[in-house]
Amino acid sequence: MFESLVDKFSGIFKKLRSKGKLSPQEVESILKELRMVLLESDVHYKVAKDLINRVKERAVGREVLESVTPGEMVIKILWDEIRKCLGGETQNLNISALPSFLLLVGLQGSGKTTTCAKLALRLKRQGHFPLLVSTDTRRPAAKEQLKTLAQNAQIDFFDEPDATSPLEVVKKARVFARQKSNDVVIVDTAGRLHVEEMLLAELRELVEQESFQETLLVLDATTGQEAVKVAKSFEEWVKPTGIILTKVDTDARGGAVLSIVSQTGWPVKLVGTGEKLEQIETFHPDRMASRILGLGDTLTLIEKIEKAIEKESEEKLVQKLKKEEITLNDFLDEIKRLRSVSSFEEIVGMLPGNLRSNLSMVDGEKNLKKVEAIICSMTPQERQNPSIINASRKKRIARGSGTSIQEVNKLLKQFEEFKKLWKQMHKGKFSPLRKRGIF
Ligand code: GDP
Repeated sequence: MFESLVDKFSGIFKKLRSKGKLSPQEVESILKELRMVLLESDVHYKVAKDLINRVKERAVGREVLESVTPGEMVIKILWDEIRKCLGGETQNLNISALPSFLLLVGLQGSGKTTTCAKLALRLKRQGHFPLLVSTDTRRPAAKEQLKTLAQNAQIDFFDEPDATSPLEVVKKARVFARQKSNDVVIVDTAGRLHVEEMLLAELRELVEQESFQETLLVLDATTGQEAVKVAKSFEEWVKPTGIILTKVDTDARGGAVLSIVSQTGWPVKLVGTGEKLEQIETFHPDRMASRILGLGDTLTLIEKIEKAIEKESEEKLVQKLKKEEITLNDFLDEIKRLRSVSSFEEIVGMLPGNLRSNLSMVDGEKNLKKVEAIICSMTPQERQNPSIINASRKKRIARGSGTSIQEVNKLLKQFEEFKKLWKQMHKGKFSPLRKRGIF
């Protein structure tokens, strides 16, 4: 996600960081470059212009000139403005009513049905009792899709085969939910290939006659500016309370998210980050801004690590957290455990650039097997204290694991990097980022 933006920003940031002082001319030329990056990444020209103007106002003012590290300060201002552009604060779903009704609308193919199931599973894991409802009275295949997803995730499902309108289905679902004590009802709606009046009239009837805590517009991030148009045409018929942006994992250019939020003014509440049912996340403008700028999404990373930690037995965990130092055995355990929560690639992608490149060897299934083979070829003493691994030991380990001395060296180097990361996590924060004023 955001590969193109991140790559281009990192080049500019490198330049910025290398400067002790910035003249107003230098600030001007860097802002021009930043604006180009935004435009090339599918950010609407007006959004890019406004954003850069706001950064400029702050950057050429006292904020930068009086700062000790002006380059860092420009990055911080840019981060702050992108965060604001993305909506500023995290907006949670309104599920305070009992039961709460959430209506998902959007075009066919936007990922709506998958998102309904993702959302239900997420709420179920948070301790709710969701009910999934299909209101597509015209396409039996769409109902079947939701039903299968519901069955696989063991979530209650409701549909009314004889109903002729979504309104009729929702009225009956209300009674069903009450009987079954479901506290959140997620209603999937029919999607069409383009905005169709008849369908939208049905939707309007539904939202006028039934009350929904949330009407969420599902938008496909990969469609870029088109998604903004779709949002505007839906607005004439139903007033969304928020957006769920899907497929952000495949949006290589990454600018759509900025344009969609700033042009619709609706908060993005959730993002879909993959095809699997677990791949849905709360949208945090601050974290998203960090990701867009390639500063590493360390908060989400910490959440993921915490989730992984939950899986571990309490006793083992307490012992491990007590020690700031980890051994090669712990290292192997950690990598395996992190991979069980999400793909290691995803985790590595959230780290700041320097750590990211240093952990490349433990990325990928094949590499992990190699790492495992190398560690298993070490003696218990070597695993406990890698500093005793001299040249002849390295030779033996490489032979035993079917790898090369270079690969053993690389692993030892990466272990040192991981130890640094572990220490930071142990302290509960990523202090380098804090020092730079990014969080
Ligand atoms: P609907 O027609 O709007 O109900 O869309 P579907 O739920 O059937 O999804 C269309 C396609 O998008 C399916 O292949 C989904 O697996 C895929 N999809 C949905 N959400 C995501 C996502 O967040 N990331 C990726 N990569 N694919 C997604």
